[in-house]
Amino acid sequence: MNLKTKNRQYYCPRCGSKKIMDYGNTFDCTICNLEFEKEDFEFVDDKEEILAISEKLAFTRILNISPD
Ligand SMILES: [Zn+2]
Repeated sequence: MNLKTKNRQYYCPRCGSKKIMDYGNTFDCTICNLEFEKEDFEFVDDKEEILAISEKLAFTRILNISPD
């Protein structure tokens, strides 16, 4: 994968806050207390569509229950 925008400024896709905690591959919004994956931030153009990790886990659980 091509991650040449590594030094980009990450911000919370949910509230737009730049007050984030950088964890390396993920970052955490200190306002929303939601953790997001940087990879999602890089590849999803519409930032509003980015799901927090906890939301993705819930989503995966739903998919596993009713695979379509
Ligand atoms: Zn936020």
